[in-house]
Amino acid sequence: MRKSTGAILSLALMAGSALAATPDHQDAAHQALDLAEKSIALRSVAGDGNQTPQVAALFRDALIKGGFAPADVVITPYKDTAYLIARWPGSDPALKPLVISGHMDVVEAKASDWTHDPFKPQIENGYLLGRGSTDMKLDDTLAIAALLELKKEGYKPRRDIILEFSGDEETTMATGAIIASKLANAELVLNMDGANGTLDEKTGKPDYFTWEGAEKTYADFRLTVTNPGGHSSEPRAVNAIDELAADLLHIQQHRFKPELNDLSRSYFVNAARWQKPDIASAMKAFAANPSDEKAIRTLSADPAFIGRIGTTCVVTMIDGGHALNALPQRATANINCRIFPGHPRAAIMEELRQAAHDPGMTIEDVTEGSVETAASPMRPDVVQAIEHGMHVAYPGVPVFAAMSSGASDSMWFRSHGVPSYGISPIFIKNSDSFMHGLNERTPVSAIAPAMEDLLVLIPDLSH
Ligand SMILES: [Zn+2]
Repeated sequence: MRKSTGAILSLALMAGSALAATPDHQDAAHQALDLAEKSIALRSVAGDGNQTPQVAALFRDALIKGGFAPADVVITPYKDTAYLIARWPGSDPALKPLVISGHMDVVEAKASDWTHDPFKPQIENGYLLGRGSTDMKLDDTLAIAALLELKKEGYKPRRDIILEFSGDEETTMATGAIIASKLANAELVLNMDGANGTLDEKTGKPDYFTWEGAEKTYADFRLTVTNPGGHSSEPRAVNAIDELAADLLHIQQHRFKPELNDLSRSYFVNAARWQKPDIASAMKAFAANPSDEKAIRTLSADPAFIGRIGTTCVVTMIDGGHALNALPQRATANINCRIFPGHPRAAIMEELRQAAHDPGMTIEDVTEGSVETAASPMRPDVVQAIEHGMHVAYPGVPVFAAMSSGASDSMWFRSHGVPSYGISPIFIKNSDSFMHGLNERTPVSAIAPAMEDLLVLIPDLSH
């Protein structure tokens, strides 16, 4: 496998050289791929046999071999997982550290459902296949190999560079919260778990790169309706399941106010040209006026866009009744919300309560493992550094901001007031993105330019 890997990567690097990847960094690109394969082979899934601690050991060994002081690479066990924090000391202790963030765990994957064993990494037709190839072991190892390459080249950061990997981002996110509280003094975070470049579906050429400066807040609210119940042969006017069903329909019909922030405006204005004409004109119209009804209708009708224009809430589970022949005494439902940055969960819960319009219904916040966060500012130094790195890797590629509809460890840092930016430099076709799904894969040709990007971006923000 190593042999085929080398051959294919060299081809990819040659193809990538047209995109300005200098061949001097071949070794670093190779190391990133090699470490990615080794870490994909470790089943770092929450639960029995979780091999996240072994991934941490693999990464620690690589860092120490590449010049990190052993005392500066610390693995902390936590329940069935572990997290890693590595420090590269800067020359000016007065400066706050630059944090580079990732996670080592992956979402469960069943070998029987995949075309290949998800935990036996393979390279086929130019793709690295395996669970974690996209989310996000290759990103982790790109960061590791980039730092080691900088060390090899004699780079001396002025501010500390801290590389950290959480161990349960895909489940409870507890270690991400711990890491962020330990590093709450950071200047800013570059999160490798977020953003990406988009390749054209037909030509495979880079279309654009979006970085992320905000994400929506995850929330779960439980609705409950209770009723004295009784025998089903003697129905009453009020039935807990009927009542909850009516409440749910009211909530379904409720529309949260469409909203725009600096990041989503940048996205709509810049990304419109790659969309179908109706979506493109709706994006531009919405960016100019977030009250534009026609634009709101068009964007709301598309699942890829409805989450970008405001808070969304949807019923995800229901439970009710206790016997086939009894009037239900209780009915509950879970409403899952993705809240636009800047709103407290309590405010959204209150809006849902009013939308349901039922004094007999109770609503409670049952969210676990989430904090509400505002958007990170579009700092000129960060925006420039991201553009600089990308333009070295992919000259002329459009670069702009976006907001993520998912949640990542960035939320923990943002909750401490530390700006956090998703910057994964991997370019991929939308149709190749199988994060969390079957047959996850990432084009090997993305590795060399990603390395070029990091080798510019990291020094720009730490020198
Ligand atoms: Zn991830």
